[in-house]
Amino acid sequence: MKVLRSVAEARAFRTASATASIGFVPTMGALHEGHASLIARAVRENDLAVVSIFVNPTQFGPQEDFGAYPRDEPADLAACERLGATMVFAPTVDELYPAGDATRVQPGPIAARLEGAARPGHFVGVATVLTKLFAIVRPDVAYFGQKDFQQLRVVQTVARDLRLAVRIAGCPTVRDPDGLAISSRNRYLSAEHRRSALALSRALRATEEMWSRGERDPAKLREHLKRLAAGPGVGLEYVSVADPLTLDELDRPADRALISLAARVDGTRLIDNVLVGIALEALP
Ligand code: AMP
Repeated sequence: MKVLRSVAEARAFRTASATASIGFVPTMGALHEGHASLIARAVRENDLAVVSIFVNPTQFGPQEDFGAYPRDEPADLAACERLGATMVFAPTVDELYPAGDATRVQPGPIAARLEGAARPGHFVGVATVLTKLFAIVRPDVAYFGQKDFQQLRVVQTVARDLRLAVRIAGCPTVRDPDGLAISSRNRYLSAEHRRSALALSRALRATEEMWSRGERDPAKLREHLKRLAAGPGVGLEYVSVADPLTLDELDRPADRALISLAARVDGTRLIDNVLVGIALEALP
């Protein structure tokens, strides 16, 4: 497995394997089972699999945890090697944002709601870094987790609008056995706070069951989700029942929905969602 640090080397890697199909998994490192499922799929479905490890400063707000974000490159490289990645691209910040860098990719309304509303500028940073990475790695397919559903939709929209030659594939959320969606930030949680955090996935599951029993009123679904998720130790930021394509809040019964929430547990910001009435693979 190659570990490349410069844009020039990564471009040369692509040029040297021009006829191979490349599956690409962009990450911020601190790799866990969620990332592993994406990397394993990239390995399975392509001639070559490339993983990027880059904690992207432009997607963090000034009050967010960029400096404190967990970093463990030796463990990450060992995981990539074990999973069968061909190349890891781990550039420095200066390499992706050279002196004078000022160009930004501004996604449309898809980025304005939910996480975009809670984290101003976040998706501009995400769209910008991914556009750079796609231009360097030139993958055939890039894999993204459902856990960050809005990110998946933003990237699908940016790839479509900018006419990028990459297919964006969504992969299901990987959960711990107790139901908690795996996240690099879970390592900030004490055992007690982890128990509090379980209310989130349980509330989503219960709301999904309410949907399965036939409830379609978005206000009732939201109310149920909010009541169950707001347990002790959980500071709910939002609950949402939205159109899974546009992410507009539903104001009338629909036949598909993204049910999602964001909350703080002891200062750690957690997000999770379930998709109902449409399969991840069916997203346009
Ligand atoms: P991150 O390193 O947090 O930027 O995540 C890199 C990729 O892994 C993104 O596409 C995430 O959606 C995905 N990912 C993170 N956690 C999970 C999870 N629990 N299950 C599936 N995919 C995940």
